[in-house]
Amino acid sequence: MPSIRQNIEQITRQIEQASKKSLKNSTKTKLLAVSKKQEISKILEAISAGQFEFGENYVQEGVEKIIHIKPHHPNTQWHFIGPIQSNKTALLAQHFDWVHSVDRLKIAERLSQQRPTTSPPLQVLIQINSSGEATKSGIAFDEVSALAHAIASLPNLELRGLMCIPKAETDPEKQAAAFAPMSALFEKLKQDFPSVDTLSMGMSGDMETAIGAGSTMVRIGTAIFGERK
Ligand SMILES: *Cc1c(COP(=O)(O)O)cnc(C)c1O
Repeated sequence: MPSIRQNIEQITRQIEQASKKSLKNSTKTKLLAVSKKQEISKILEAISAGQFEFGENYVQEGVEKIIHIKPHHPNTQWHFIGPIQSNKTALLAQHFDWVHSVDRLKIAERLSQQRPTTSPPLQVLIQINSSGEATKSGIAFDEVSALAHAIASLPNLELRGLMCIPKAETDPEKQAAAFAPMSALFEKLKQDFPSVDTLSMGMSGDMETAIGAGSTMVRIGTAIFGERK
């Protein structure tokens, strides 16, 4: 079985190749290692292989890992990528560096209020329900502008861009069609907000297509760490 280091090296090569092929992508796409339901020992292995950005889906589990790991590895960055309940925003604001799944004003306001003033601003992405699925979190494309302006005016948040989890498709053409409106909206948002530089899209099954469409951050879990507990 390949090691976590080998998996990270392999995925990094795939990202580089896909970025080279992509006309949209002048900046290198970042790898977010999704470590939900993975043991701390595996995360430490990834850190020793040079991976510093981690994604977590469950607030309590993520906070425990951050408290355990961050004091020893202050250069790690922790991204919350799961659905947000309003009674969990204080923990998110206190411990995480990034939140990818902001999808309503009330949540943004709470995160800003609860962000400790001793911490840098919380880095925020707006989650878009890009395939319009009833079961998925995220807002519609036409709601983004209003929420983006509201977030940009909050003192302890920094608007960095957009995130989506499109419907799983195996056909690259269908994948590309789902990513295209995200890229278009991202380009427009960059014009309006100088702080915007991050388009979080692409997972194991659609990473290459997402990079082709201009993704700046892909989120990969099991291909790095193996099956979850
Ligand atoms: C779990 C998860 C991933 C990673 O999924 P894998 O199949 O483990 O690569 C990426 N993005 C989000 C939002 C997730 O919840």
